[in-house]
Amino acid sequence: MSTPRLHIDLDKIFHNASTLVSRLRANGISTTGVTKAFLGAPQVARTLLRAGVASLGDSHIENIELMRRSGITAEMILIRSPMLSQIDRVVASADISLNTEFDVVAALSAAAQNANKSHGVLLMVELGDLREGIMPEDVESTVQAVCRLPNIKFMGLGTNLACRSGVSPDNRNMAELTALASRIAQSVSSNRIIVSGGNSSNLEWLFSGGEVGHINNLRIGEAILLGREALNREPIEGLFTDAISLTAEVIESKTKPSKPWGEIAQSAFTNHPTSADLGNINQTIVAIGRQDTDPEGLRPPAGIQLLDASSDHLVLNTGVKKLAVGSNVSFQPNYSALLRSMTSPHITKSFNKHDATPIARTELEVLPNAA
Ligand SMILES: *Cc1c(COP(=O)(O)O)cnc(C)c1O
Repeated sequence: MSTPRLHIDLDKIFHNASTLVSRLRANGISTTGVTKAFLGAPQVARTLLRAGVASLGDSHIENIELMRRSGITAEMILIRSPMLSQIDRVVASADISLNTEFDVVAALSAAAQNANKSHGVLLMVELGDLREGIMPEDVESTVQAVCRLPNIKFMGLGTNLACRSGVSPDNRNMAELTALASRIAQSVSSNRIIVSGGNSSNLEWLFSGGEVGHINNLRIGEAILLGREALNREPIEGLFTDAISLTAEVIESKTKPSKPWGEIAQSAFTNHPTSADLGNINQTIVAIGRQDTDPEGLRPPAGIQLLDASSDHLVLNTGVKKLAVGSNVSFQPNYSALLRSMTSPHITKSFNKHDATPIARTELEVLPNAA
């Protein structure tokens, strides 16, 4: 097995996804499985679909195109506002996109007419986190304008919290979305619009008895993959937190002083490196670093302490154990470490083989930018 290696256990992903899908369904909420953290890898996407997600969502049209090429026909949502330079591709491969700019929806309309297709538009509302979203007072007029565009189907409203400013979903902001949604549903004379209340950071609110109101969809990525809610990163009861692991290989194992010697200036990544003097320690280097992952986001095995990282070396204190050169150490990545490992060309991605589809490493290694 080549290292470093990011392993995704599809059985655990299936368990996490189906558990969340049924807990959300019990609250009248459908699940959009978010595929961006694994670059739309078709075997993971199919696992989410088998687990019952209603649709797939991704921020990158390249990932959506990859899933389409692999034969997935499920509803797909582009969950980042489309770039004007990619409008034709968005209309060709995504059924729905999340939008905040009228000009972009007008371009989607033109492209959809050219392609003789219809494209669904979900409008995002700003509720305080100050990332994407139409200000609440502008939603109604934007909906009216969007509804006049040919080949555009207005699908509903959405919001996204806790991604930029850490604003938590709560009864107040979720009630604001519900109130807006019922006004909009009336004004477009529809009795069912999508009301997409947010992402993994909504789960704590939902599971602690939050007032669901008209919210009928959540877009969930991190909680399925890592089994943790996204506000305090606490484990979600009944989910696996170890579905994904990052394994790297030991390239040096020595007993060394814990305190450096010589004049201390800046190191490559810190201004003033400091080390406590613990006497001699079992110091181990594994062959992975900042270029391939986020070392601060790696949870080492029990008894092993992560000391420092440079571009391509991760320095560990292995305590009483001495690890042999050539042996492997597995870490649990957090979301940041997962994102970076997934996009590193130096890290092999592996999946367990219960999925019917053959492992398609090449699909991940050759990113379809020129598709
Ligand atoms: C990434 C993203 C999600 C999924 O977030 P998770 O925290 O992974 O559940 C949902 N909606 C939007 C708009 C996103 O960008």
